[in-house]
Amino acid sequence: MRNTQQRKTEWLNIQWKGGVMTHPVQQDGSSCGVIVVLMAREIMKAFPNVPILQFGTSRKEMANERKMMALQILKASVFDEAENCSMCSLKKPTGSVHRFINWIQCDTCERWYHEKCLGMAKEDLEQARANTWSCILCS
Ligand SMILES: [Zn+2]
Ligand SMILES: [Zn+2]
Repeated sequence: MRNTQQRKTEWLNIQWKGGVMTHPVQQDGSSCGVIVVLMAREIMKAFPNVPILQFGTSRKEMANERKMMALQILKASVFDEAENCSMCSLKKPTGSVHRFINWIQCDTCERWYHEKCLGMAKEDLEQARANTWSCILCS
């Protein structure tokens, strides 16, 4: 901001006002990410041609797209709570040469953990096995 030069005052005395800019596609203040993903999807589908971008952007349509994307991501995920360790996300702990892998299941959330990944003392593990045990996410 400069003050007066050649008897003209610039910027300094302007009263700025806040405003709302409307967007021709996005109808709310939070769906830009969803729209970008939808645009990217259409571009990939049409490649190398120029895509025709046609999708609804109402609150209801954006909410539905969010839900569909979340389901698609979860479906494509290799993580399975019933078969993967909630600590390392693998079926077998890395560096495991043992034929038998010891697991422990949380009595609260029913997630599974490699004993190796928990790094618990042998006594604590035995106690956890004998009684009910809650994992770090639950306790
Ligand atoms: Zn693990
Ligand atoms: Zn748990």
